[in-house]
Amino acid sequence: MTITPVASTTHEEIYRVADTATGLIGYIALHSTQLGPAAGGLRMRPYSSEEEALVDVKRLSEGMTYKNAAAGLALGGGKAVIIGDPGVDKSPALLRAFARAIHSLEGRYYTAEDMGMSPVDMAILAEETPYVAGLADGEFASGDPSPVTARGIFNAIRTTQAHKSGSKDLSGLTIAVQGLGHVGWCLCGLLSKAGADLIITDVNQDQLAKAVKIFGATSVAPDEIYAVQADIFAPCAIGGILNAQTIPQLQVSVVCGGANNQLATPADGQALHDAGILYAPDFVANGGGIINVASEIEQISNRADYVADKLSALELTLATILNQAKVEDQSPDAVAITTVLAKMAQQSAACAK
Ligand code: NAD
Repeated sequence: MTITPVASTTHEEIYRVADTATGLIGYIALHSTQLGPAAGGLRMRPYSSEEEALVDVKRLSEGMTYKNAAAGLALGGGKAVIIGDPGVDKSPALLRAFARAIHSLEGRYYTAEDMGMSPVDMAILAEETPYVAGLADGEFASGDPSPVTARGIFNAIRTTQAHKSGSKDLSGLTIAVQGLGHVGWCLCGLLSKAGADLIITDVNQDQLAKAVKIFGATSVAPDEIYAVQADIFAPCAIGGILNAQTIPQLQVSVVCGGANNQLATPADGQALHDAGILYAPDFVANGGGIINVASEIEQISNRADYVADKLSALELTLATILNQAKVEDQSPDAVAITTVLAKMAQQSAACAK
């Protein structure tokens, strides 16, 4: 296994990781360790090029800096990617080689599950390094973060809806959910229990049919979800779906979901604001998962209380961001970024004293 630094002007450290014996090629990016060790998941995807993987790891690790700061965690932002099809190219030997690269960073980066990874894979990584969270077993193991992510998004939907309409009550509202995977499925359960009517979509037809039955939802084709008449749109699938093509189609007054990097560009945050659609910044709305992971990194024995406290604080942070955005007539995304940068500046000023 070789781990080679990649020069960067935007990130503290970036490494290319390779192992000829297992076919491993990947990257680890530490965007910031200002608030603590960089933390963020490991993603495995069949990227079409190394350049694409590098762009993704840089973007995602920067997003983790904001997410961790917004969630009030003593963690910086990092992320790792492996190039390959997880169903075909993933092997225990490849994962172990990657784990040795993580270990060589001596705790400056902690990993966990992301797309293409499971708790079983985390257990394999943990054979080589302690800098892994999201484990299924062990004293502080926090397991699959998705249910907590979904709980955080549910809270964020209620907070955003209350900001828009004055009431957190979701009963009788129509909510469009894109993506019925780990997060979207749990979220549908919470929304349906709260009395919302669901319009759902997924590219996986079996999953979609199952969800229609279980949640009594209405299904639409994947490209039809943007134009449905609903109160709230909850993107829980992929990034970049709020863009110049989709925003003009939206018939909702609130967008709040769990997918990472929902805005294709920062200008799309402004476009939503100009259209009178209230957008809950994704890195605030979906912070529940990393809160759950942080409980494991920080070796918290009473995880339930820790998670509940941090989720409540996150709800307050979102409400504050939405209020400030309203007062300043700015997009909540722009305000959220300014808020976390100010938090980080405050922290470094405190450290310098
Ligand atoms: P997942 O892979 O379990 O589910 C994603 C679902 O989206 C799948 O069912 C897939 O078929 C569907 N999908 C993919 N492309 C689609 C499209 N174009 N239209 C409709 N459906 C589509 O992933 P997940 O863990 O549920 O995560 C969902 C999103 O939330 C991702 O963006 C992820 O980065 C983000 N996120 C997840 C967590 C977590 O705890 N799992 C935490 C924070 C953020």
